[in-house]
Amino acid sequence: MNPLGIHAAVWVGGWSQEQTRTAIERTRATGYDLIELTATSPDAVDVDLTRQLLREHGLGATASLGLTFDSDISSTDNAVVDAGRRTLQQALELVVGVGATHLTGVIYSAMRKYNTEATAAGRRNAVGVLREIATEAGRCDVRVGLEVVNRYESNLVNTTRQALRLVDDIGADNVVIHLDTYHMNIEEGDLARPVAEAGDRLGYVHVGESHRGYLGSGTIDFPKFFRALVAAGYEGPITFESFSSAVVDPDLSTTLAVWRNLWDDGVDLASHARRFVADGLHAARANRR
Ligand code: MN
Repeated sequence: MNPLGIHAAVWVGGWSQEQTRTAIERTRATGYDLIELTATSPDAVDVDLTRQLLREHGLGATASLGLTFDSDISSTDNAVVDAGRRTLQQALELVVGVGATHLTGVIYSAMRKYNTEATAAGRRNAVGVLREIATEAGRCDVRVGLEVVNRYESNLVNTTRQALRLVDDIGADNVVIHLDTYHMNIEEGDLARPVAEAGDRLGYVHVGESHRGYLGSGTIDFPKFFRALVAAGYEGPITFESFSSAVVDPDLSTTLAVWRNLWDDGVDLASHARRFVADGLHAARANRR
């Protein structure tokens, strides 16, 4: 059975002690198995408190981030690449400190709209840094996910095929592909073929609607996607991601262009998404019998 997760941004826009308690308690109360933390500002996280609350509530954790233009490991400026390596090392320390299992996201380039194509030299830099990070992560039994995102959030990995090539070039067993239905809906030809192509390289999944609001209220063909996951034998985490102007993370909300209010009640949203994903997987498995 896939562990079902929820992104912390459904609950809180930061990680103060109070926000940590709120997010972890609500994740448990709405029936999820894990919470995905934002690893953008590791210094702002009370690592001991987070680890302790996760354990108390019997929850797993993962962490994600997007690099910036100042920490872009696909840059050709060595100082910028070095800054990105430090950012990823600090994020990995956070992951290990709280006892999380995955470090994922847009960790191969900036999570920004680029005005130029990616370069071969920049891509080589990204491969080199990710190989180092994957080696360190492997020693701590952490998986490193490359999230495939749309063209407005990176110029390096917009399709599953590009992610497969990057994974091959990095050449580490603990580097996995992270697919997200919201991005797939923009860039891929359909929602099933990329899952099959990723195969056993698929190691993390985000489910998000076409507008990133309530699952089932947009245009994503979730039954098709869930059938593809079941057909591929995917057993990894499936994490619900949704953003509304009701919860503002000063960094993330502007980067992801969260200008609209798609929901106010995170508990209702999360409870609905938990049922939606569980029911969707149940139906997809029944369809296989
Ligand atoms: Mn995502």
